[in-house]
Amino acid sequence: MSVESVHTSARPLRVAIIGSGPAGVYAADILTKSQGVKDGEVQVSIDLFERYPAPYGLIRYGVAPDHPRIKGIVNALHKVLDRGDIRFFGNVHFGQDVSLEDLQKHYDAVIFATGAIKDAELNIPGIDLKGSFGGADFVSWYDGHPDVPRDWPLEAREIAVIGNGNVALDVARVLSKHADDLLVTEIPDNVYEGLKKSPVTDVHVFGRRGPAQVKFTPLELRELSHSRDVDIVLYPEDFDFDEASDEAIKTNNQVKTMVNTLTNWLVEEAHEGEDAASRRLHLHFLHSPVEILEDPERPGHVGGIRFERMELDGTGNARGTGEYLDYPVQAVYRAIGYFGSPLPGLEFDERRGVLKNDGGRVLGADGAPVPGVYATGWIKRGPVGLIGHTKGDALETIGYLLEDRLQLPAAVEPSEDAVVTLLEERGVEYTTWEGWNRLDAHELALGAEATANGGSHGVSIARERVKVVPREEMVSISRGQ
Ligand code: NAP
Repeated sequence: MSVESVHTSARPLRVAIIGSGPAGVYAADILTKSQGVKDGEVQVSIDLFERYPAPYGLIRYGVAPDHPRIKGIVNALHKVLDRGDIRFFGNVHFGQDVSLEDLQKHYDAVIFATGAIKDAELNIPGIDLKGSFGGADFVSWYDGHPDVPRDWPLEAREIAVIGNGNVALDVARVLSKHADDLLVTEIPDNVYEGLKKSPVTDVHVFGRRGPAQVKFTPLELRELSHSRDVDIVLYPEDFDFDEASDEAIKTNNQVKTMVNTLTNWLVEEAHEGEDAASRRLHLHFLHSPVEILEDPERPGHVGGIRFERMELDGTGNARGTGEYLDYPVQAVYRAIGYFGSPLPGLEFDERRGVLKNDGGRVLGADGAPVPGVYATGWIKRGPVGLIGHTKGDALETIGYLLEDRLQLPAAVEPSEDAVVTLLEERGVEYTTWEGWNRLDAHELALGAEATANGGSHGVSIARERVKVVPREEMVSISRGQ
């Protein structure tokens, strides 16, 4: 690398971050704060690119609408972007509107924080039948993601949800809740209308290991019992604890709390007669999915699901017993984890669903770091961990970027205007932070209007926000058109 091609401290470091979910915003915040302003000079200038017209990634399009606790995180992210020292460009699709080459021309460093939005695959017979869905796709639908169809087929009375993580609980809770009880949230109208028509009576959640090996968390578990007119049903034969389970219960408070909650629910008397709820949420353990069964009366459609009964092997893992159990269901949702998507021009680890990287330094085909290219969040370490964990990730990635600072290949067109010109020349209808504030205000106004009219859909309820779903509408409101 020639001396002229290396970024020097004569001008602010120009950094592009791709993805404005928590990972991207935390990285931007840490970088801005760690560099700050020295001797009155701004040291770093960051542009945050987002594929959707609105910011916040997973917070807007991955968190269940009935999780208001998450609002605290939105407020924190809003504060960072509202300071005015980080520019936001929404509705810019990396790989279509801008390439890695474009970014390398305009920035000294590029950080990918694109997360993971696809469902991990489950290769069992019947997975392609009609009525077999990815949990992440369903999450995108109920969160009003602009790029998924507006209608979701909710025709099943009995539903299986595979997986024992928080996404499985989100999916099962939304599927089993009465739609009217979700109206208080920001769910879009098409989602309310879809859920309102659902004939569901029973949602079955299946974990392949035992109650002490669940991946969900205590608050999310307890929340299941707060749904009106939904009974929780558990099965004594699923309550198996091996040595590793006992150890986990002894040493891990979260596991202990969840096992206690589940055991208390198990011994509670079932509601009967008039007390019985009209919907049930069943929690099954030690069930490993084997095959999704076709409905003989509706060829091509899900009619049931077959599991192998599992037993714990002493280490907390499960092994098959050779006993098979069939359940009649008309829909199956797999919630067995997310998976990252490859990004054009970058090496992808197909097994883990992440960009090939070493602690956040993105690696090239030769296994060596690509100068000036970094990753953070789920696209760096895979789709595990709560939102707060991405802060640690960002710290590590930014640490490496700063360590590399004097060897970064300098941008040839680093001016802040050059990238705006590029987007405009390409006819990209990008949105800005001011534009997001306009769309945000519009969504809040829709909520206020519904509240002033006494509610919506004939239900008297106060609505804080109503999400705008179609991309064109989001863009035109943001751009004040
Ligand atoms: P996850 O926590 O990794 O859970 C995946 C579940 O799928 C596990 O129970 C796993 O079982 C099971 N599984 C994997 N492969 C399977 C297979 N072939 N057959 C049957 N079961 C299989 O993933 P997630 O639920 O997608 O959540 C991703 C992350 O987002 C997690 O960190 C989660 O806590 C977080 N999240 C948090 C919230 C919240 O805080 N409210 C909401 C949503 C998501 P094994 O354990 O046996 O592998």
